[in-house]
This record gives sequence, structure tokens and C-alpha cells, in this order.
Amino acid sequence: MITKCSICGGKLDALFPLLAQHPQHKICSTCSIQKSYIVDAANRNDSKAFQEASEAFLARTYVGTTDEVKADMNVIIKRFQGMLLQNEEQDQDSRFNELPTTASDHVEGHRITKYCGTVGSNAAVLIDAIQPGRESSPHIAKLNNRQQMLTQARALGANALINCTVTYTPLNAKYLLVTSSADAVIVERA
Ligand SMILES: [Zn+2]
Repeated sequence: MITKCSICGGKLDALFPLLAQHPQHKICSTCSIQKSYIVDAANRNDSKAFQEASEAFLARTYVGTTDEVKADMNVIIKRFQGMLLQNEEQDQDSRFNELPTTASDHVEGHRITKYCGTVGSNAAVLIDAIQPGRESSPHIAKLNNRQQMLTQARALGANALINCTVTYTPLNAKYLLVTSSADAVIVERA
């Protein structure tokens, strides 16, 4: 049973994966929030915020952080740096900067020209760690899932997510599973 955060060595209060390829590396909610700042800055196409968030993320390591975990952290930064550069190009093309996401079956003012496939992500959160307020673990899990789905959607060439759903399923007395899914589509202005 993993009990310590792979990055900071702190108490593992949630089970966020660091990188999908290495599911054994689990990170705490604080490291996960710092990771989400990197993703958020890339999504907003803010180079300065991206730089700061990346440095703060790397600064969370401690003496016990393994080289494999450090390498995974750099993979994440590189991946979203790539997205940032791509966004800058897209900005110049005046294409979508932010992928629209909606719970409905269409994007207002647009028509769907292609279904690219279903995207999804899930995260287990410790029920004990749930606190009222916006930075609660299920909320962070939901944001993480959203970022994972946006990355998957971009990889599929989609420019919007429709039929977005989030479900909360208790796994047992200790964990809650937060599952998100959506259909990745290409839309054009109608
Ligand atoms: Zn941590």
C-alpha cells in the first residue's frame, strides 16, 4: 500500500497518478494542485505563469524523490510546453485557443462535422480528505480528469467536448471514484 507522495514524500491524502504510463507513482493533493497550475497555464496560453508553475512543481521534490519520478515530472512539463507552443500557433491561426466543453449534445453557434471518439478519465479520492469548499479533493479530481480529457481530445484532433458527464461512485468506505467522460468532436462555426 502506497502511503507517501512520490514527489514531496508527504502524506498521501489522495491517489492522483503523476503520469498515466507509471500508475505506481501517486501524488498528494498539494502536488496535484501544483501540477494542475502547469496544465491551466498551458490551457490559458500564459508562458510566464507556465514557467512559474513548472519551477514551483519541480521545487516540490525532496531528497527521497526518485530519478524516475523526476523524469516523469519533466515529461509532464515538456508535454504541456508542447501544448503551449501549439496554442500559440493556433492563436496566430485564430483557431480555438480553449476547447469548448459542454454537458449538452452541441456547441452553441456551431455544427458538428466529425465525431472523433470518446474520451475519459477517472481518479480515486480518499473520503476522509474531503473538505467542504472549492479546493476539495473531488473537485481537484474533476479538474484533473478534465485536463486529461482535453489532452486526449487534442490528440484525436478534436476541437470541442460534448456530452460531458461526471459521476461519483463510492468504491468502499474509504474511497470515492470520480469518473469523467465526454465525446470528442470537431465543430465549425455555423
Ligand atoms: Zn506531494
